[in-house]
Amino acid sequence: MTVGTRVGMGFDVHRLVRGRLLILGGLEIESTVGLEGHSDGDVLLHAVTDAILGACSLGDIGDYFPSNDPRWKDADSNTFLQEALTHVEDLGYEIVNVDTVIVAERPHLGAWKEGIRSSLAGMLDVPADRVCVKAKTMEGLGAVGEGRAIEAHAVVLLQSFRDEAPKPAKAAKSVKPAKSSAKSSAKPTAKKAVKAPAKSPKSVKSRR
Ligand code: MG
Repeated sequence: MTVGTRVGMGFDVHRLVRGRLLILGGLEIESTVGLEGHSDGDVLLHAVTDAILGACSLGDIGDYFPSNDPRWKDADSNTFLQEALTHVEDLGYEIVNVDTVIVAERPHLGAWKEGIRSSLAGMLDVPADRVCVKAKTMEGLGAVGEGRAIEAHAVVLLQSFRDEAPKPAKAAKSVKPAKSSAKSSAKPTAKKAVKAPAKSPKSVKSRR
């Protein structure tokens, strides 16, 4: 892929049942009901993972982690997210921002939004100001409105860090002063141009 930016969207819904933990964005929420699912049922992480895979044109979470595969029974959904992030890195992209909406009638998530945002940003290894978590209700409508399910939506924007390569080359013009070493100065400039994009992968590596 050579496109500078790519956008992806994700959606997921899980049933609310008794006897399960409620985990949203990797954070355990105090609740009498939790999300049913083959994995830990983290509907928000599933939506974000799908958005990331979508931005990479790599299908959806079910293609990588089928719900009939016993390996993913009660799995931590962060595993899925980290797999998607690996593809982002491999393709030469990094996250610009992530916007999400959690739709839930119960429990009330207003007080949990900031905690979920912080948890999600940590998992994505980006500053919290690149992540937004909104909490909505369905005004009593449908399965979510009746408190029988929670759904999540996510949009992710990626940018290529390889696009930054030409920038150091431009800067080289102003570094011209070294008159006699015109030939040799070309080499370090070229090296700089290659080194620059290597910065981003470093920060991505640290999240593993
Ligand atoms: Mg799911």
